[in-house]
Amino acid sequence: MNPFSLALGEDQLAVRDWLHGFAADVMRPAAAEWDEREETPWPIIQEAAKIGIYSMDFYAQQFFDPSGVGIPVAMEELFWGDAGIGLSIVGTTLAAVALLANGTDEQIGTWAPQMFGTPEDVKVAAFCSSEPDAGSDVSALRTKAVYDQAKDEWVLNGTKTWATNGGIAAVHVIVATVDPELGARGQASFVVPPGTPGLSQGQKFKKHGIRASHTAEVVLDAVRVPGSCLLGGKEKLDERLARAREGVRKSGRNAAMATFEASRPAVGAQAIGIARAAYEVALDYARTRVQFGRPIIDNQGVAFTLADMRTRIDAARLLVWRASWMAANQQPFTAAEGSMSKLYAGETAKWVTAQAMQILGGNGFTREYPVERMHRDSAIYTIFEGTSEIQRLVIARAISGLPIR
Ligand SMILES: Cc1cc2nc3c(=O)[nH]c(=O)nc-3n(C[C@H](O)[C@H](O)[C@H](O)COP(=O)(O)OP(=O)(O)OC[C@H]3O[C@@H](n4cnc5c(N)ncnc54)[C@H](O)[C@@H]3O)c2cc1C
Repeated sequence: MNPFSLALGEDQLAVRDWLHGFAADVMRPAAAEWDEREETPWPIIQEAAKIGIYSMDFYAQQFFDPSGVGIPVAMEELFWGDAGIGLSIVGTTLAAVALLANGTDEQIGTWAPQMFGTPEDVKVAAFCSSEPDAGSDVSALRTKAVYDQAKDEWVLNGTKTWATNGGIAAVHVIVATVDPELGARGQASFVVPPGTPGLSQGQKFKKHGIRASHTAEVVLDAVRVPGSCLLGGKEKLDERLARAREGVRKSGRNAAMATFEASRPAVGAQAIGIARAAYEVALDYARTRVQFGRPIIDNQGVAFTLADMRTRIDAARLLVWRASWMAANQQPFTAAEGSMSKLYAGETAKWVTAQAMQILGGNGFTREYPVERMHRDSAIYTIFEGTSEIQRLVIARAISGLPIR
């Protein structure tokens, strides 16, 4: 009989508790301040780097946990601490995943360390796919990459938007089209090394939530990068383009989609961290707030809401862990299980945080209590890394085999 267990092992529990300590002692107390400042919390990223939470090694170790749950467990704890600071700490991993998914071993060895910097001199990285006219429709990217054979360089031109860490990153990973006629199959990812002329930050967005995380436009004006900055190398790209031109469909994957597929359950786990945090505040409050001579939790109306909150959080976690286990064990997502996990976790976070505000009454509506921030933070989880509608589209296509629009 195959053993089945959802219990975390000793090592996993130790990592979880260690991250929880950092989230509780360092992130949570700083959350309101950085939310108000709307700035990248560099001192906290540095503190995370000093103890090993912000490093390629740490995320690689979690990523290669054979159970698959190393990353979701880590994400949940950090985002339980605070989502804005959490995204500032893990935003780099989106670019790192793009590098791991598409780069050669040599490229990974060169660029991964530069994405994180060192504890003394921390750096962040940015993954830039979205454009003003290409959000959900990744195939509509206009940023162009043209090969200059004489110099063995690529020349990038275009405007990226909504880039987490865009413009403040040391390393930017840019998804660009090499052959616009091929749509998503004509795209490739490029590393833009630190200090490359022509790359600049456009407007920085003022946001509803996750305000400690920097989100900005990235303008690419005749940015020249060496041929070696094309992730995966030119030979592989030429082969892929030739297959696409002949109409041969080896797989439907493209550079941006490969990154999103790998990161969806992890993003779902972030949403669960926010939901769990708001649920805990609401449970505590409901036990101690007295109205009509009894704690408000004595009313079924409140207690049942808490029961539903907890049930949905646990259900979301199970979906995330399943998808993560499947990915780690080379089980194909035949029913778009990665999208399912992100869809359900994102919607759960938004719903649970809204219920938490309601349970806290007037206090829930003020910045004296953290649940209004958690509610604002949760809203991004039905938007980025594929909106809820796009997740439903992916699931509907997977289960029906039809080109649902
Ligand atoms: C804070 C933040 C950080 C981000 N970080 C990054 C990043 O680091 N890198 C990056 O590349 N991008 C990033 N993004 C971009 C994000 O992934 C996009 O905003 C998202 O994919 C949606 O694209 P859009 O905003 O253009 O919305 P649109 O695609 O214009 O969608 C608008 C609405 O239409 C719906 N819709 C669109 N098409 C369909 C359809 N076929 N069927 C049904 N409904 C549909 C959508 O669900 C949505 O409700 C970030 C965004 C934000 C806000």
